[in-house]
Amino acid sequence: MGSGQVTDWQGKHVTVAGLGVSGVPAARALHGLGAEVTVVNDGDDARAREQAAELEALGVTVRLGDGETLPDGTELIVTAPGWRPDKPLFAAADRAGVPVWGDVELAWRLRGPDAAPWLAVTGTNGKTTTVQMLASILEAAGLRTAAVGNIGVSLLDAVLGEEPYDVLAVELSSYQLHWAPSLRAHSAAVLNLAPDHLDWHGSMEAYARDKGRVYEGNRVACVYNADATGKPSTEDLVREADVEEGCRAVGFTLGAPGPSQLGVVEGILVDRAFVENRQRNAQELAEVSDVNPPAPHNIANALAAAALARAYGVPASAVRDGLRAFTPDAHRIAHVADVDGVTYIDDSKATNTHAAEASLAAYDSIVWIAGGLAKGATFDELVGGAAKRLRGAVLIGRDRALIREALARHAPEVPVVDLDRTDTGAMLQAVQEAQRLARPGDTVLLAPACASMDMFANYNKRGDAFAQAVRELGA
Ligand code: ADP
Repeated sequence: MGSGQVTDWQGKHVTVAGLGVSGVPAARALHGLGAEVTVVNDGDDARAREQAAELEALGVTVRLGDGETLPDGTELIVTAPGWRPDKPLFAAADRAGVPVWGDVELAWRLRGPDAAPWLAVTGTNGKTTTVQMLASILEAAGLRTAAVGNIGVSLLDAVLGEEPYDVLAVELSSYQLHWAPSLRAHSAAVLNLAPDHLDWHGSMEAYARDKGRVYEGNRVACVYNADATGKPSTEDLVREADVEEGCRAVGFTLGAPGPSQLGVVEGILVDRAFVENRQRNAQELAEVSDVNPPAPHNIANALAAAALARAYGVPASAVRDGLRAFTPDAHRIAHVADVDGVTYIDDSKATNTHAAEASLAAYDSIVWIAGGLAKGATFDELVGGAAKRLRGAVLIGRDRALIREALARHAPEVPVVDLDRTDTGAMLQAVQEAQRLARPGDTVLLAPACASMDMFANYNKRGDAFAQAVRELGA
């Protein structure tokens, strides 16, 4: 069960590691193919018991409360992407010579012979937005497609479902790429690379290496961010990848594009990669105002989506039509309300410093609501860069002291309110404190730079609480 395609699952002993959004469908699919499936799960709370009961009714074995012991006879592990590679279960698998696949690897291996090619997107921030823009462009070109990955259609459903697709726009996280050794996309983009999830990957190098896997075996184009300055850059990752003969490196930039790049010239998105004679010619794709919202980081997302679509052969007019038809998901720089001349913006999805940096750069005078779970991040660079634009800051959540200390170092004159509460009323108080600090013309920006799970079920709930609090101000 090493590298080749597995066609006969009958009686294969497969251990699915982790219930939940990827584990339950994986267990069902493998059981349906005839495999002997055992699910192991660390927790055994009420939700897990409910899911276990459903699977057991089908004939799947489920072991709750022990995600570390390798079941006897296991020939393959299919793991939930979030499970850390340093778990003892994987050390046991390694010793026993048992391969470990993630949900993406499983989907890749289960595709039919005429399966749709994948246009893949990864990066620290902007993945969801970019795959949605890409799907919108592909649809505008009349192709049967779907945005799959973290949202909407699951990958397994997309590859096993009845619906035949021409091409898929696939969002991939660094975790998923870590566990997907044989994935080979038609073309792929790494949008950007900033420290995130380092506690999981162990180091920036390991994180970058896992992101870079998305370029392995690309056939037509490896799309990189020509403006990124970090080390390694996304272009470095392209250089290190082993791609098919003839596959091209295509950059995107917010500046004027060179040959083999997409970029921006006088408010127009321009393609100098997928045109005849790229030394001399350029193709207009769309106007900056066709991008929603036309913030710099989002124009970069649009260029990356356009590059992948053009790599697939989509005409320029479909790029424009697809971008016009696209509307962003909730909690991503969403305008909530204007109250007494102050604008309230919900960017709850800014769960790391790199995302928060992009949204802080989009406004001139900001009362910033931030804090939560820092996931090992440091805040000096973020706070230093935004200091001039901060009217004030309101800090919430478990790791808020890290941000408070960075503010004290880099923006000592900015007033800071430190909220030492995590109950359900905390967001309302945060918004009231922000209102007190704000002057007409300011923006109150929820861009937490942290994960939400210390106070909320997820970033959606955090953003909802913010919007609700703003409505109470207005009432
Ligand atoms: P992901 O799926 O990678 O989490 P999203 O599209 O959901 O990305 O956006 C996540 C957050 O990152 C949003 O808060 C948004 O403001 C910010 N963001 C989106 N695109 C970029 C980008 N290209 N660079 C930096 N930040 C971005």
